[in-house]
Amino acid sequence: MTTSSYPDTRLLIANEWVDATGGKTIPVVNPATGQAIGTVAHATIADLDRALAAAQQGFEKWRDVPAVERAAIMRRAASLLRERAGDIARLLTQEQGKPLAEAKGEALAGAEIIDWFAAEGMRVYGRIVPSRNPAAQQLVLKEPVGPVAAFTPWNFPINQIVRKLSAALTTGCSFLCKAPEETPASPAALLQCFVDAGLPPGVVGLVFGDPAEISGYLIPHPVIRKVTFTGSTPVGKQLAALAGAHMKRVTMELGGHAPVIIAEDADVALAVKAAGAAKFRNAGQVCISPTRFLVHNAVKAEFTRALVQHAEGLKLGDGLQEGTTLGPLANARRITAMAALVEDARAKGATVATGGERVGDAGNFFAPTILADVPLNASIFNDEPFGPVAGVRGFDSLEEAIAEANRLPYGLAGYAFTRSIKNAQLLMNRMEVGMLWINQPATPSAELPFGGIKDSGYGTEGGPEALESYLNTKAVSMVGV
Ligand code: NAD
Repeated sequence: MTTSSYPDTRLLIANEWVDATGGKTIPVVNPATGQAIGTVAHATIADLDRALAAAQQGFEKWRDVPAVERAAIMRRAASLLRERAGDIARLLTQEQGKPLAEAKGEALAGAEIIDWFAAEGMRVYGRIVPSRNPAAQQLVLKEPVGPVAAFTPWNFPINQIVRKLSAALTTGCSFLCKAPEETPASPAALLQCFVDAGLPPGVVGLVFGDPAEISGYLIPHPVIRKVTFTGSTPVGKQLAALAGAHMKRVTMELGGHAPVIIAEDADVALAVKAAGAAKFRNAGQVCISPTRFLVHNAVKAEFTRALVQHAEGLKLGDGLQEGTTLGPLANARRITAMAALVEDARAKGATVATGGERVGDAGNFFAPTILADVPLNASIFNDEPFGPVAGVRGFDSLEEAIAEANRLPYGLAGYAFTRSIKNAQLLMNRMEVGMLWINQPATPSAELPFGGIKDSGYGTEGGPEALESYLNTKAVSMVGV
């Protein structure tokens, strides 16, 4: 079955789904077919003003709801998300392209993240600090920072919201999200779970429109106390600068260029299985996607052959079609970007070991591509590909590989394969990344920090640290009572 119903998406303001003032909409296109499948409302400034007022009112209610009750509502939303995962996955696949199984997995993983944050919110404690004055009592209080503006991208329309939303709600913040115009229906279905679970009006809001106009209005707005963005590094830098000018708290989850170091003593079959699967998941449109495969020269030929075989075994197609393991790219911009990366690498001396081309002329299909012997000046080794293209390059010493891994300004995810504890420790201590997976694919579970360093941003969206960035710390010293 390759067709399914798809709704038009409206704005969520104070628990009501509403059209934009004036009724302007943006078309939504299925990347597997190139056909328009629906529309999304395009918010005006008047709509944003109403959404901001609702977020303020929602915050004033929600901050006083006891953590245990907040957790109960969040857990109810998580179970609704689980119940609806099959239907939500069909929306997600139609608007974003990923295979249905990946889309359902994303919704189910989202439910798990909500549950974890719901529980963690009940462990936000203050402190009692011994005082120098015996008559004084000193307290450290943790308070929600206030209404949050979130900007989320189209590659994981549900999960990019869920981490931010869960951290905000569990700490008592309200949450106003500008979700992606290209993939609006699955975010709307996610937020509907929270409305149905019993959130008071205004605690969550959802808007769409012109991204620059919305961020330019929300970030400086006095109602908004915290900004969280996931997307590209150039946009992240602009938004962080704007937030800085208005002294707003910020979390930035930006681009990456994940190195994969395969040492001489690595289990090559494991490396291909783990890193190959990670490379082509979501057609490579993943910020932690492996990109630069740095392979010891002793195992490079064996590794490249096996990675090519892995890529050629993938089934490219419409994500709704049974058996598809690699969907289309989410938008036509990515096809142009992939073709340019391959052309640039070829011109600079790399070999196209497999793939390298667009497939068909309807939909955004690009063949899984492996580029071998990639020179360091090729774009694929410098710019985030965000697509199903991997580059392989040999090395002779682990120090050389680590230096290459750290060469770029990015520092999000890294992967390494080795059987030696000495190598593992060297990699662990020296790789400049926010997340490192050794001998395994990425396991970005809710309880582990998720975030980058250098140009990949700051702040984390997992683990107890994720809650800290939605909390203010207040010191109180009290005498005479
Ligand atoms: P882009 O930089 O134009 O947009 C990235 C995201 O930011 C989109 O969701 C977009 O709506 C939003 N955005 C853009 N300008 C904005 C603004 N002024 N204010 C608020 N939001 C804004 O790029 P794109 O073509 O959509 O995606 C391509 C690149 O984006 C990729 O190469 C990748 O580097 C990056 N990206 C990263 C992630 C991630 O998970 N870190 C996700 C999606 C895209």
